[in-house]
Amino acid sequence: MDLMEYQAKELFAKHGVTTTLGVVVETAEAARAAAENLGGVTVVKAQVKAGGRGKAGGVKLAKTADEAFEHASNILGMEIKGLRVNRVLVTPATPPEEEYYFSFLLDRANRQYLCIASVEGGVEIEEVAKTNPDAVKQIPVDPGTGVDEEKARAIATEAKFPEPVFEQAVAMIQALYKVFVDEDATLVEVNPLARLAGDKLEALDGKVSLDENASEVRHPDHEEFEIREEADPLESKAKDKGLNYVKLDGQVGIIGNGAGLVMSTLDVVAYAGEAHGGVKPANFLDIGGGANAQVMADGLDVILHDPQVKSVFVNVFGGITACDEVANGIVGALDILGDEASKPLVVRLDGNNVDEGRRILSDRNHPLVTMVDTMDGAADKAAELANA
Ligand code: GDP
Ligand code: MN
Repeated sequence: MDLMEYQAKELFAKHGVTTTLGVVVETAEAARAAAENLGGVTVVKAQVKAGGRGKAGGVKLAKTADEAFEHASNILGMEIKGLRVNRVLVTPATPPEEEYYFSFLLDRANRQYLCIASVEGGVEIEEVAKTNPDAVKQIPVDPGTGVDEEKARAIATEAKFPEPVFEQAVAMIQALYKVFVDEDATLVEVNPLARLAGDKLEALDGKVSLDENASEVRHPDHEEFEIREEADPLESKAKDKGLNYVKLDGQVGIIGNGAGLVMSTLDVVAYAGEAHGGVKPANFLDIGGGANAQVMADGLDVILHDPQVKSVFVNVFGGITACDEVANGIVGALDILGDEASKPLVVRLDGNNVDEGRRILSDRNHPLVTMVDTMDGAADKAAELANA
């Protein structure tokens, strides 16, 4: 889960990273009131899960409360990288004298953490990495030993934090590492990490990605970071029903039991689609072990409401949940959904009790359902129907 800047900053503050929280608002009037309360020059910042807000015109300085109102009216509703801005953050404007870059991230390929730091310009870090790669330090961090004061000192030295802010950098690096580890993040990024007047180091921006695998048990408090209206409505619906659903770009909806089967179904459909106008999988939906009528209905409900879906491929290998239960699930789901089920379904059943499962489906003889015995054959049929 990616956090918005204001949420990232809340976690920063919780772990002692110097930052200014400001006020999050959803209307221009509220932005004016916030600016008035803060007094002085403020900065109005679009809250969307995308970088480059500054360049897109989503970060503006306001000298007066009226100016904050004006900027907020322009920024609210604007689109940045395809994302609509629904809130702005109003904070006291603290002019940076220098801008640095700092991040911790999970380096999966090398099974370690990586710290990336640069004291040469913050915002244009990608540019610096290209034109002056030596200025961007990549420092491996052993997850076993982590970042203690000694390691933080080594990082600050290698990154060449200037003397007047060096000790603050050492403290900040340890605090950011606490955010990274204690919150189970996969990314903690500060850009810019700013040197303000009086040699004060402060995180002016923040980006945090949380590992959702840790949310439910280790961090129930992270749920409050979820902003429902920003999430894909179908993904939210699937999540509410406990389904593993990922939206993709294609036209063939896919339901399977087990992540391995679903993943190979994606491949087979993409391959079959090449012969049918290049249709592709529309989603990944794993109903897991218990494919009873309600679970099947929930899965179909999610997929059939995706306007991009033209056909659905149900690919189930009966195991502990046998094929007859799955077939009853499909039949029951179609009854539950009634007229809402309006797209062709290709069903491939195999495994435990397959004969009984196929008999149930052929007895029901639903006009939308086509049974195909093999996975390749079913994928081809589903792709053909999606392209019709
Ligand atoms: P991004 O473009 O999405 O990464 O948004 P940032 O939060 O990094 O803002 C872009 C730029 O706006 C920063 O590099 C700063 O130069 C400037 N900026 C951001 N916050 C402040 C602030 O509090 N005060 C001032 N004066 N400038 C800021
Ligand atoms: Mn930034």
